[in-house]
Amino acid sequence: MSIPLLRVQGIETFYGPIQAIRGVSLEVPEGTIVTVLGANGAGKTTILRTISGVLDPDRGEVIFDGSNIVGLTPDKVMRRGICHSPEGREIFPFLSVAENLLMGSYTRSNRDEVARDLEMCFGYFPRLRERASQRAGQLSGGEQQMLAISRALMGRPKLLLLDEPSLGLSPLLTLQIFEIVKRINRERGVAILLVEQNAHIALRTADYGYVLEVGRVVVEDTCKRLMERDDIKEFYLGQR
Ligand code: ATP
Repeated sequence: MSIPLLRVQGIETFYGPIQAIRGVSLEVPEGTIVTVLGANGAGKTTILRTISGVLDPDRGEVIFDGSNIVGLTPDKVMRRGICHSPEGREIFPFLSVAENLLMGSYTRSNRDEVARDLEMCFGYFPRLRERASQRAGQLSGGEQQMLAISRALMGRPKLLLLDEPSLGLSPLLTLQIFEIVKRINRERGVAILLVEQNAHIALRTADYGYVLEVGRVVVEDTCKRLMERDDIKEFYLGQR
């Protein structure tokens, strides 16, 4: 069996005295899309923050590309090849769209490559090219989401962490953005760890899924099999 690109092993993460993650293990094999589903407050965002070094777990390991990255700063985690498109997008509203994208490439020195990747982002999201010199704070919610994903891509990740890309978007725009996420995975070979409340779209997009309840993984399987389970249909897909 090949070694997965990312292996999270038994992490426990706290906010002060509050334990948000209670021994979570998961894997993301190279080139795949893996999703973490769960209700509000289940701990999805905390898992991504623990992987990207924003939070340190009290216990457990995060093995990326063969080494434990627990304790590295977010900056160092990014240099290793993990880029995070955070919940709420966290774009820089007073910078232009192009400047936001270049912020995503600050760890890189090859300007030609950066220019090519800028073109790549504009290829995936032509709307960003049209708005390149506009302040990012003036973009619509959907455009800001495109910008957040693209800014993460500008770091040339091996693994992209995507937190709730559908948040606040219309169903149609959500579908369009997820189509592009799939293309990015296919065409660039970028592995993706996707956190989503919209279980319908997440299960159709990803290869493998984990269901999180109150900080614990309660079910894991291929998305195909998860979609066929009665409990998943009832609680996450709203079908009986
Ligand atoms: P959502 O879908 O609503 O974003 P989530 O599954 O991403 O939820 P988290 O944001 O990871 O959940 O939160 C997990 C738990 O940790 C929740 O109980 C939440 O209240 C708590 N929590 C999150 N951030 C903090 C914080 N900064 N301080 C204290 N508790 C927090």
